[in-house]
Amino acid sequence: MKIDTRQIPDKGFTLTEEFSPKELDLDTEIIKLSAPVKAKAVVSKSYDAIGVALTLNTSLLLSCSRCLEEMASSFNRHVELNYAADKLDPTIDLDPDIREEIILSYPVKPLCKDGCKGLCPECGGNLNEGGCSCGTT
Ligand SMILES: [Zn+2]
Ligand SMILES: [Zn+2]
Repeated sequence: MKIDTRQIPDKGFTLTEEFSPKELDLDTEIIKLSAPVKAKAVVSKSYDAIGVALTLNTSLLLSCSRCLEEMASSFNRHVELNYAADKLDPTIDLDPDIREEIILSYPVKPLCKDGCKGLCPECGGNLNEGGCSCGTT
């Protein structure tokens, strides 16, 4: 998602784009998305700065940090970014910032539900599903 700062009208403009997780390099061991990233940027300019109100929507594929159960979680984020107007390089590329926002907001220790019982340390059975077969719990 690129903005040509020479072509921002006085009243600003709105840009929308949809990215696949791969395009943003967001298909990794840790980060998994289950839907494309929808980005909307409301661009405005002042004397020496470019303001971008960025809205991101996607769906994350998380796995519970206790029981490893996979779950989808909707991701909605709104950030206000500011860029200096640079005459030598009039193009602003938003992709790295979009990527960073998602990485920074990605939940580190998600839980499938409050009070998830996790896995049995002995047999690895899911304790949310009514105890396990080894009977140590
Ligand atoms: Zn869980
Ligand atoms: Zn067990």
